[in-house]
Amino acid sequence: MQWMNLEAARRWATGQLEHSTEKPRLEAEMLLATLLDWNRAQLLAHLDAPLPETIATTFRAWVLRRAAGEPLPYITGRIEFCALEFAVTPAVLIPRPETELLVEMALEHASETPGATRTIADVGTGSGCIAITLASRLPQAQCYAIDLSSTALEVARKNAARHGVLKRLHFLEGDLLAPLPESADIIVSNPPYIAESEWESLPLSVRQEPALALLAGSDGLDIVRRLLAQAPAKLKPGGSILVEIGERQGAAVLALARQAFTRAECTIRTDLAGKDRVLQIRLP
Ligand code: GLN
Repeated sequence: MQWMNLEAARRWATGQLEHSTEKPRLEAEMLLATLLDWNRAQLLAHLDAPLPETIATTFRAWVLRRAAGEPLPYITGRIEFCALEFAVTPAVLIPRPETELLVEMALEHASETPGATRTIADVGTGSGCIAITLASRLPQAQCYAIDLSSTALEVARKNAARHGVLKRLHFLEGDLLAPLPESADIIVSNPPYIAESEWESLPLSVRQEPALALLAGSDGLDIVRRLLAQAPAKLKPGGSILVEIGERQGAAVLALARQAFTRAECTIRTDLAGKDRVLQIRLP
């Protein structure tokens, strides 16, 4: 198929994507802009330009993959998180906008205790989006990025290099806080928190992300439970642990937190949609 110009290519792609996404035109534009190495504004300003044949071939293939349900960031290989661009592959969870709240809360903690945040641990780092954003915003901090998956750690390492924080990021392969060699001022984690029984009802595109990054036993709390049991031994006085949770897990997680930390302040913060999203435990 030969298109007259970028606008015609966009029109074809929008039609193809109609049943796979709520934003077919936007996604068509994102695929096209990525291939042209332009931003969307540049694309929209040049819709009458021709599409080089080499790019057209890949564009067609990308649109068909997206139409078949593959997540867009796995096709383009990138996603924006906290205004930084991260490489992603099917070995890692795709960073979500909700998780930016967790990063903001960690930064709030650091700004309330100036100079005191020297050690940060990110449990289940995946693409590294949380650890790398924190390392780039807190230049005095050393960060440990922990993951059970060595392929995820490779992606995180690449992202750390790209954002110039490789020297202050230490990659540890292992289970939760077990490999952490010292206690931390801030522990952050976006752990798996979906119940196994919910897997089948997840959208097709989500089921293409690693199950290891999503599933956490029969009630979705297996990982949080183990993390909270390990955390008291790894959190410094005055430190905070921040954990992303599911929208209906606030009460259950708060009870687990109070069991693990008897003298700490435990709170649940809701996201912009008003849903339970982040547990914070703060030690005196
Ligand atoms: N920390 C990464 C993120 O927030 C990965 C989390 C995970 O794999 N559960 O995107």
